[in-house]
Amino acid sequence: MTGSSTAERLRDAGGRVTRQRLLVADALVATGKQVTAQELYERLRHRQPRIGRATVFRTLEALVAAGVARRLEQEGHIYGYVACRPEHHHHLACHRCGRVEEIGESYVTPVAARVEADLGFRIDDARLDFYGLCARCASEDPEPI
Ligand SMILES: [Zn+2]
Ligand SMILES: [Zn+2]
Repeated sequence: MTGSSTAERLRDAGGRVTRQRLLVADALVATGKQVTAQELYERLRHRQPRIGRATVFRTLEALVAAGVARRLEQEGHIYGYVACRPEHHHHLACHRCGRVEEIGESYVTPVAARVEADLGFRIDDARLDFYGLCARCASEDPEPI
């Protein structure tokens, strides 16, 4: 994801494109994993001492609203944020190393089809994220028997 495409996506979603918003978006993309707003703020503050904590928090929410980022739940009612591709997708979020992998719609389509067939609910949109250990972390931590 390049800086210009982030700007375009913000603009398309009706979001204001400001230097600070792009700064926060670029920092999130560069992180490559999920971070909390507080973690991202601390990281940004080293390079941008004038950036405000509230700005980072508000900007992350604006990025979520524009579809540039997504919010993932972490333990203790904290949110992690991750930069996202524009295409519809779901996540595999590792709670150990923070890595977030994107998975395509094909994994979720069978679930949605069954909900529609069994419950008659007509699905417009689904956001299904999986939380656990990524393949690398899981291989270092075999399931207890
Ligand atoms: Zn994503
Ligand atoms: Zn992991």
